[in-house]
Order: sequence, then structure tokens, then C-alpha cells
Amino acid sequence: MASTSMRTPSNPITKGVFCYNTRKHLLARLISNSSFFGRKLVDNSLSYSTSTSGKKTLRNRSELVRVSGLNATSESHSFDVVIVGAGVIGLTIARQFLIGSNLSVAVVDAAVPCSGATGAGQGYIWMIHKTPGSDKWELAMRSRKLWEMFAESIQHQGMNPVEILGWKKTGSLLVGRTADDTVKLSRTVEKLSEAGLGAKFLSSNDLLVEEPALMVGKEGGAAFLPDDFQLNARLMVACIEKANRQFTSEGRYAEFYYEPAISLLRSGSTGEVEGVQTLNYILNAKKAVVIAAGCWSGSLMQDLMRDSNTDLAVPVKPRKGHLLVIENFKCFKLNHGLMEVGYIDHEAATLQPSASDSGPIYHAQTPSISMAATMDTSGNLVLAVSLLGSAQK
Ligand SMILES: Cc1cc2nc3c(=O)[nH]c(=O)nc-3n(C[C@H](O)[C@H](O)[C@H](O)COP(=O)(O)OP(=O)(O)OC[C@H]3O[C@@H](n4cnc5c(N)ncnc54)[C@H](O)[C@@H]3O)c2cc1C
Repeated sequence: MASTSMRTPSNPITKGVFCYNTRKHLLARLISNSSFFGRKLVDNSLSYSTSTSGKKTLRNRSELVRVSGLNATSESHSFDVVIVGAGVIGLTIARQFLIGSNLSVAVVDAAVPCSGATGAGQGYIWMIHKTPGSDKWELAMRSRKLWEMFAESIQHQGMNPVEILGWKKTGSLLVGRTADDTVKLSRTVEKLSEAGLGAKFLSSNDLLVEEPALMVGKEGGAAFLPDDFQLNARLMVACIEKANRQFTSEGRYAEFYYEPAISLLRSGSTGEVEGVQTLNYILNAKKAVVIAAGCWSGSLMQDLMRDSNTDLAVPVKPRKGHLLVIENFKCFKLNHGLMEVGYIDHEAATLQPSASDSGPIYHAQTPSISMAATMDTSGNLVLAVSLLGSAQK
């Protein structure tokens, strides 16, 4: 058995399972008994152990109750926090623990970082289709601020955020074609301006000046937010991964890719979550397990909790979207990010628990498809389509 030890902090976070996705940051926190809030790091040493026999490891940890699927040669490692899912959410949570505490972090993914929605993301950080006062407004504003600070920090380190993140302050246009659309857009501008963002309404003539390649007809128009920006999701992930890996040498960070989480390790006496079993590893979590598996979070949580008495319905369900990238696009130029006004309805689509076990469903009056178009810093045209209602099928 090989082992190494390191100093870990007295930075207390409560122990349990946290489930993150981008719709609701903290979806579920599972606690199994009253000792949850009281439990802190037991000792100051972090041990990494490698055993050639999974059984031997388990004998030493007689408390573990869920061992199905255990690989006979499972290695055992210990971290303060184990994060399941290495999309933008999992990786940024890891980053925050690494720079904001002394905790050690493991990131586990069934594949690799851009294999989920993050790899398909268009990368716009836009407020143009958000509604001031809605439940996600504050979160969106905070997120936008944090991305801005992130880009600034890269600049302060002497690097160019355009190259490192594909950062581009293009401004965004929410575009409509009909008289009804323009009424809606005027209201949007009003609300965004009241909320302190410098929004402008553009008539079809004004719009032509901003986007000569765009034809919306005489009745059309747009809401314009000059300060909105976009980034390249893949570049951003590479940047965050690189920064996280700087903590590897001090033993505070490890990645377990192509390692699907298959079960939770739970204490036989208290039921408390103590770690994650992946295909080949036992990953003990001294402080917390974070589930950040994007649209798989709901089904994964159900799967991971299937043998427990906890009735858990995490309201996350996949929603269809596609991204088309046309490389080195020269036919016309877009000066700003464009979004169809119908996207607002997609944002507003509400989640309601379904009567069946199949999870939550999205409610849309009629099936609809909405498009957004941007040009990235490499001159590629990026088209995203969002589908709602039966258009999802
Ligand atoms: C076409 C499209 C365009 C989009 N455009 C934008 C945009 O412009 N702006 C914006 O803000 N958002 C956009 N989004 C949404 C955005 O991409 C997602 O909200 C975001 O990437 C979600 O990140 P995540 O980390 O939660 O999920 P993901 O990136 O999906 O990561 C989840 C990870 O969990 C892993 N996983 C799943 N099951 C397991 C398991 N059992 N064990 C271990 N790992 C597991 C997966 O392999 C995956 O890597 C877009 C999405 C799409 C599809």
C-alpha cells in the first residue's frame, strides 16, 4: 500500500451530497442524520491508499454498505470533496474550492469535460432574454459579474482573454419581425433599463445600421444590449482545467475521467454519504460529494439513491438543443450576437413535477423552435437552436 499525507485545512463545510446544475444552483442537499451539520474534518491528514484488492480495502472500511459493481482491483483515494461531473459547473466548483480554501478536490466524469452540454454550448453570457425580477435574474447578474471578473483576472495575469477564453464583447440583439414582437421588445427594453442595464430599442431602420446582413421587414425591430458578451466554451474549459491542475502537484486536485460514478458509499451505521464508487476507484469524500452531472443529475441521483429510503426527485431533465458551427464563415458578417424573440418564452418555460416517474416536464403552449446566431473570435458562425414542447421530440 502506498500512502502520502498532506495538511488539510480546518475550513469547515458541512458534509453531504450537493446536486448542482445551471437551472437551480443548489438543487438538493441530502442529509442522512442529525450529525450532518456537526461533522467536520476529523483529522488533519489526507491519505491516498492503493490496494491491489478491493475486498481488503472494504474490510478496513467495514461501515461501507453499497459495494455493488465494485471492481476487484479498485484503488481507494481520499479527498475532502468529490465532484461528479466535469462540465463547466463541476470544474468551476472545483476551481472555487481550490482557490478559495485549502480543501482537496477530485473531479469524476463518465467521459471528459466537453462531452456534455458544455461542449455544445454557444458560450453567450447574455442578459437580453432574461427578465428582471424573475427567480433567476439575480443569479444571472451575479454569474455575468463573475465571468467579467474572471476575464479581468486573466488580463491582470498578462494574458489576453480573447485568446484564452474567446472573450468578445459583441453586445446582443433580441430580434422580432412582427408588430406584436416589437411591442414585446419595447417592454423588454423598458424593464432592462429600469434594472440598470443600458438597453436600447432599435427600429428596423436602426437595426439595419447595426446589422446590414439582417432582414426583418418594416415591422420588425430589436432590443439591444451593447455590453453583453460571449466566450468560447471549449477554450474556457481548457483554461479552468489548466488552472485546476496547478494544484495537482501539492496533492489537492485529481481528475478521474472515463470513470462513471456508479454508487454512493454510505456509512452502515449512520447512512451518511462517505464517498463515490466509480468503475475503477473508491473515492472517499471527507466533507462532501457534489453531483454536477448536468442534465443527467436527476436520473443519476435516482440511480445513486436507489437502495436508500430517501425519496428523491431532482427536477432536472434533458432539453433538446443543437449547435451548428460553420468554420471560417465568409458569406456575411454579424456584428453582434443575435437571438430570436421567441427565446424569451423558452427561458420562461416552467418546470412542473410530472405525475409519472419520468421526471419533470416542460410546459409550452405550442411546440416552438428558436434560434440564436453569433460569430466567435475565430470567425466561425455559430448557430444554436432551442426546442420546446413537442418540438423536442
Ligand atoms: C446547443 C446548446 C447551446 C447552449 N448555449 C448556451 C449559451 O450560449 N450560454 C449558456 O450560458 N448556456 C448555453 N447552453 C447551456 C450550457 O451549455 C449548459 O447549461 C452547461 O454546459 C451545463 O453544464 P454542466 O456542467 O451542468 O453540464 P455538462 O456539461 O453536461 O456536464 C455534465 C457532466 O456530467 C458527466 N456525467 C454524467 N453522468 C455521469 C456519471 N454517472 N458519472 C460521472 N460523470 C457523469 C457528463 O459526462 C458530463 O461531462 C447551451 C446548451 C446547448 C445544448
